[in-house]
Amino acid sequence: MNPVKYIFVTGGVTSSLGKGIIAASLAKLLQARGYRTTIQKFDPYINVDPGTLNPYEHGECFVTDDGAETDLDLGHYERFLNVPTSQANNVTTGSVYLSVIEKERRGEFLGKTVQVVPHITNEIKSRMKLLGESGNFDIVITEIGGTVGDIESLPYIESVRQLLWELGEGNAITIHLTLVPYLAAAKELKTKPTQHSVKTLMESGIKADILVCRTEHELSDELREKLALFCNVKKEAVIQSIDASTIYDVPNLMLKEKLDVVALNKLRLPKKSRPDLSKWNEFLKKHKKPKHTVNVGLIGKYVELQDSYKSILEAFVHSGASNQTRVNVVSIHSEYLNRKNVAEKLAGLDGVLVAPGFGERGVEGKIEAIRYVRENKIPFFGICLGMQMAVIEYSRNVLGLQDANSTEMNPKTKNPVIHIMEDQKHVTDKGGTMRLGAWDCQLKKGTLVYSIYNQEMISERHRHRFELNNTYLKDLEKAGLMASGVNPKTKLVEVIELKNHPFFIGVQYHPEYKSTVANPHPIFVEFVKATVQHKQHLGSTRLMV
Ligand code: GLN
Repeated sequence: MNPVKYIFVTGGVTSSLGKGIIAASLAKLLQARGYRTTIQKFDPYINVDPGTLNPYEHGECFVTDDGAETDLDLGHYERFLNVPTSQANNVTTGSVYLSVIEKERRGEFLGKTVQVVPHITNEIKSRMKLLGESGNFDIVITEIGGTVGDIESLPYIESVRQLLWELGEGNAITIHLTLVPYLAAAKELKTKPTQHSVKTLMESGIKADILVCRTEHELSDELREKLALFCNVKKEAVIQSIDASTIYDVPNLMLKEKLDVVALNKLRLPKKSRPDLSKWNEFLKKHKKPKHTVNVGLIGKYVELQDSYKSILEAFVHSGASNQTRVNVVSIHSEYLNRKNVAEKLAGLDGVLVAPGFGERGVEGKIEAIRYVRENKIPFFGICLGMQMAVIEYSRNVLGLQDANSTEMNPKTKNPVIHIMEDQKHVTDKGGTMRLGAWDCQLKKGTLVYSIYNQEMISERHRHRFELNNTYLKDLEKAGLMASGVNPKTKLVEVIELKNHPFFIGVQYHPEYKSTVANPHPIFVEFVKATVQHKQHLGSTRLMV
């Protein structure tokens, strides 16, 4: 068997340079050349996973099939590669320390003093090799979070140094991503920050094999030569990463810069065929040349920060392209929505998505928005908390249960139409204790959701503690709200929909996590289609007047 090859991606100068997108784009090119490639992310913070982090802190928490709460970069990996990731693809300093300390408590270190080197670094190294040892991959790309020189990154950088040494030349390489800033006053691109960053990496014993330079302007030949000379890399290994209008352009940009070829040469791997990106480029064409434009309201309470709803926004890009439609997402803060202003705030929208969320803030605004779109027959899509709020809205305004609520928002409500699951009642720890990961759901024939998936059994990813209270199900169904998807074992309701409405669907799970470029999620695809139809219908009724 050929040895697994490792690519480490580090970052310098500043954060937010798009290491995740570079890693995903390189992986895409290697995959398109026929290599089984995966990407993993190592984050230097002490949270055991990002599940306990506020979205304002760290953006969305992405969830895998096996129920790991992970960094949102794993979402990019899945969207680009169309291969599911798992718990093993995301490691944090907290999770490394936790397992080392647990081993120490079990006495596994046999009386030794437990130290950062070698115990923490050994744990990091074994996690870095875990996916490589599974036999499922030819190439493993490891993205190291943070920037070189940070105190908290040091154990990771040292582990990479040791692995480069142990695996040997040709089996492991380092890519260093830096910024080449443009000074407007001098009208010049500057290489000095990159030189310093490479030097910092060198001080830790790592020589960058490839430099990826984020820039707003083209790097001249001269500048590439300068960077090569002062940063100790070959000229062809100076890769330009110019700002792109969409992240989905980056694989093509990296192909043009030959990032994949340079990496394969350094890893002593054959280039095989030219990467087949035909499907990817078909998607790009549709994305860039839409025939329709729709306005979709995204109603949530974290709307100030784009990254909070990353997977939802990307799912609209995928499903928009497959409908040849530009989906203009209009962010609406649920906290500032009320019965008086809802018509004005939702005016001109062709559809509304009510977002997932936790806690009381902004829920009444979500309920008002749902009432408005239900009564005005505007396409509606509720995800997790969005679905729960649709049940509450229907219970209050159609069933007449005025105090209907979720026990998450009002533990004392007389009508807990959404309540906590039995097995959650005694859970006190917050981290990793929700209903997480993939669960089955059985769809009822003849329903909207069945026609969307076109199959009876589906599996989708979850992240929540509360559920529809089945005591109210009969009454809700009698009043016209249908449970069209149910977990076959637990009987928990997974999907609700309304019959007398052009498109009204709420799901307890998170379909956005499974939407990829190659496989846009079917509910998003049909929702976008419904918004286009809504707009056309409105247009034709306007013409008739
Ligand atoms: N707060 C709700 C629950 O825990 C919904 C969670 C979510 O939207 N992901 O059930």
